[in-house]
Amino acid sequence: MLVRRWAAALVALFALAGVQVVGAAPASAAARILYYDASQAQEFKSVVDQGAQIWNSSVANVKLQPVTSGHTANIRVYADNGWPRTYSTSLGNGRWYMGREAVVDGYYPPRIAAHEFGHILGLPDNRTGLCSDLMSGSSAPVACTNANPSAAEKAKVESLFRSSVAVAPQMYVWAGN
Ligand SMILES: [Zn+2]
Repeated sequence: MLVRRWAAALVALFALAGVQVVGAAPASAAARILYYDASQAQEFKSVVDQGAQIWNSSVANVKLQPVTSGHTANIRVYADNGWPRTYSTSLGNGRWYMGREAVVDGYYPPRIAAHEFGHILGLPDNRTGLCSDLMSGSSAPVACTNANPSAAEKAKVESLFRSSVAVAPQMYVWAGN
C-alpha cells in the first residue's frame, strides 16, 4: 500500500516536472518583436523584407515583422539618393535609408538592407574589409554578396536582446567613418 502511494506521488512529481519543462521550453516565445515599416522604401520594399528575413533566420531573441494595424513601427525604412545610413534611437528603434548611391556603385542591396537592420539591432560598423562580416559594410569589396551576419555578429545581437541592453542613439553611414 505504501509503495503504491509512493509510486503515485512519483508519477505526480514527474507530471509536474513535465508541465514545468513544457512551460519553459519555447525560448523563442520570449523573443522581442520589432515592427518595421517599409511602406516608404519605394523600389526597395522587397529587399527590406529580405534583410529582415535574414535576421529572423539568424537569431532567436529578436524578430523583425512588417508593421500591421494596431502596432507602432519600431523601425521606419526610407529610400533616397544618398548613402545608405541608419539613425538609431535606442536598441531596436530608429530609421534607416536604402541609399541609391551605394546601389548605383554596385553594392549588393540585400547586404545593405541586412547591414542597416544590423545597426538597429545594436551592431556598430566594423570595417574589417571582410566579406564574411556583415558589419564590414563598404570596406568589403563591392562584389561582396554575403548578406548574412557572421557567428560573432549573431552572438552579439542575441546577447544584446537577451538582456535588452541600453544602446545610445547613433548615426551610421555606409561610406566613410
Ligand atoms: Zn553601417
